[in-house]
Amino acid sequence: ARQFTRPLNDLANQWNTLLSAIAGAERVFEIMDEEVENKDEGKAAKLDKIEGSVKFDNVSFGYDEGRNTLSDISFEAKPGETIALVGPTGAGKTTLIQLLSRFYDASGGKITIDGREIGSIQRENLRSHMAFVLQETFLFEGTIRENIRYGRLDATDEEIEEAAKLANAHSFIARLQDGYDKMLNNGGSGISQGQKQLLAIARAMLADPAILVLDEATSSIDTVTEIKIQQGLQRLMKGRTSFVIAHRLNTIRQADQILVLKDGGLLEHGSHDELLKQGGFYSGLYHGQGVEGEAGD
Ligand code: ATP
Repeated sequence: ARQFTRPLNDLANQWNTLLSAIAGAERVFEIMDEEVENKDEGKAAKLDKIEGSVKFDNVSFGYDEGRNTLSDISFEAKPGETIALVGPTGAGKTTLIQLLSRFYDASGGKITIDGREIGSIQRENLRSHMAFVLQETFLFEGTIRENIRYGRLDATDEEIEEAAKLANAHSFIARLQDGYDKMLNNGGSGISQGQKQLLAIARAMLADPAILVLDEATSSIDTVTEIKIQQGLQRLMKGRTSFVIAHRLNTIRQADQILVLKDGGLLEHGSHDELLKQGGFYSGLYHGQGVEGEAGD
């Protein structure tokens, strides 16, 4: 197992740069929304509730004209399933997430949620059904309570505390001198990396979305907090369609589906056991042959 997680951890360091781009997602959304508002928002649907089935149908996309970053990606996630995204750096994992959340629109194929093409759903509405727990938690200058409330602005103090309890964040907050009223400055300089993650989980719990995007943390979190995070995440993921950029073997193993991306293509797709049986790229990773080896070599 250790052999497997090591190459993934190395990759993770490189993912961070790109993922921090979505870390301030909410802010970015605001900026982007202004631009697209007039283009499609008029006719687009606003959904009160979604089940959370997600389908990619031959999806392709390129940042640059004439060069595909993702090619022909097809898979279907049922509501509540966990989908692990695995693959070397530059494979397109982050890009796939960005298409799902409509940072960018696919250039070919179709992405649907509950059978409805996502281009026909208002961007802001689409994202209100999603929550992100990333390595870099976006915290603004305000109290811990306000930072959790950001998940759902009309939440009561009781609901915030309830979400924090489910997220395993309550106990550390309660131990702080100012508790929920503690001010967070400079992106939360007074609290640890792991505690920031717990706040992100609490915020997502409060938002109560049908779809989750998780980027597993990889570094510098103490064991006790790590266990709390894992437990909080498990509670959060229950009953939600979860896309995990996964670094931990345990997470990957438990996923309903693993998407192995390489060079923008869906190289392998299946459960842990299925992929091991195939004896390809994933199996090679698992057996510690490193990520540079080509599938089938
Ligand atoms: P990592 O594990 O390093 O995060 P990834 O699998 O998430 O990689 P992506 O971030 O989706 O990969 O990147 C896929 C490809 O698209 C890479 O070659 C990357 O350089 C390129 N790319 C990513 N974002 C942009 C962008 N905004 N403009 C142009 N190219 C981009």
